[in-house]
Amino acid sequence: MKTLFRLIFISFALFLCACDSKREEQLIMVTEATFPPYEFREGDRVVGIDPEIMQAVADAVGKELVIQDMSFDSVIAAVSTGKADVAASGITVTEERRRQVNFSLPYVEARQVIIVPAASPIAGKDDLNGKRIGVQHGTTGDLFVSRNIGEPERFQNGALGVSALIAGKIDVLVLDDQPAKVFENKYPDKIKILAESLTTESYAFAVAKGNETLLAQIDSVLESMKRDGRLEAILGKYGVTGAPAAGELPAAEKAPEAHGAFYTNFIENGRWRYLVEGLWVTIEVSFFAVVLGLIIGFGVAVVRTTHDKNGSLKLLNFLCKLYLTVIRGTPVVVQLLIIYFVIFGSVDVSKVLVAIVAFGINSGAYVAEIIRGGIQSIDKGQFEAGRSLGLSYPQTMIYIILPQAFKNVLPALGNEFVVLLKETSVAGYIALQDLTKAGDIIRSQTYTSFLPLLAVAAIYLCIVMLFTALLGKLERRLKRSE
Ligand code: GLN
Repeated sequence: MKTLFRLIFISFALFLCACDSKREEQLIMVTEATFPPYEFREGDRVVGIDPEIMQAVADAVGKELVIQDMSFDSVIAAVSTGKADVAASGITVTEERRRQVNFSLPYVEARQVIIVPAASPIAGKDDLNGKRIGVQHGTTGDLFVSRNIGEPERFQNGALGVSALIAGKIDVLVLDDQPAKVFENKYPDKIKILAESLTTESYAFAVAKGNETLLAQIDSVLESMKRDGRLEAILGKYGVTGAPAAGELPAAEKAPEAHGAFYTNFIENGRWRYLVEGLWVTIEVSFFAVVLGLIIGFGVAVVRTTHDKNGSLKLLNFLCKLYLTVIRGTPVVVQLLIIYFVIFGSVDVSKVLVAIVAFGINSGAYVAEIIRGGIQSIDKGQFEAGRSLGLSYPQTMIYIILPQAFKNVLPALGNEFVVLLKETSVAGYIALQDLTKAGDIIRSQTYTSFLPLLAVAAIYLCIVMLFTALLGKLERRLKRSE
């Protein structure tokens, strides 16, 4: 046994060393591969304009190009914290981002454009007031809309935004011009791009501050690619026409003000409000989902135990079993997306309601099994006692069995609710701004990860501790009443 452990330990250590020594020979590029034609997946490979340019850089410096696919709002942090060498993700040069990373020379010009359903009466920027505007979370489109028009609905990527637009969940989607074109070509009779665009921007590659060597290497490769027409050829191959962005970086609009991290993350632009509003949404969703879960859970548990006891309720029991299998067998994010896009696909309901329904239905399955276990743990004699007192089966269940079962399973239920509370953190997938998403929004605006994540974690921890304390109180009270 000991030798086995030693062997596992040594191979693990060797594996770690191997990873580390390879790092020197790699050029690690981070991107979000849902941004065609700049980066997208073809089979299991990430391809597109950015990977091709970065391949040229890797060749020039004699390194192996390694592409890591992550969410766009994390690519800049990945570079500034040294997790990757370069972020190549159709990144627009902005002043805020310049505080965190250095940018290469720009390689292409882009715009934020407005996409609307094909039959929409919206004709331009002036019609946007009061409309439900979707953006891709943490992008310059997000920044532009939040600053100039109003709070947008933030989607994880352009594709999810397009689905929401086609499903009528939003009135317009603001997106970068080239990905927008790709989507328009895909759904030519469902969506259209308006002629008027919102911004003109330059894309560049981002490297960590202080990594002057890599920055110079990228710039020199870009310059030679511009000179010999290779850059134009790559852009053209993916349908991006027009001259690549001129050589110089756009001049700084104003020198970025340096503030402490706490100020930038929470005070500046009232960012703490995201946390407060997000916390409220999280509590609202969790509370009602717990209630719904309890109702479903009790119902299902009673049906199943009744069936097991006397063989009745065959059809209901079958349906309950099906529900348990499906819900426990699939991830809650997938259930949430199905409920949002498929079940409530063509009706306009609030996203909070969608989340409550999704998490409630999900939790119900776990609660059902917990309560069923509780009912089974009650001594058979209790049933017989109830019946011999002249109570009917339902009366025995409601007045004698369930209260005792509930008391027994309270710790397990508490556990389930704590899990549920934290599981609601995936609500951001349907652009609901819960607590986790609030942290993401702050991160995507300040490009720092530590403080927003810490704050979000601390708030969850506080709610869980508060809840655990309340539950302990309830448990003690129930014990006393015995
Ligand atoms: N150009 C936009 C930005 O930098 C969007 C980029 C992207 O989604 N990959 O914010």
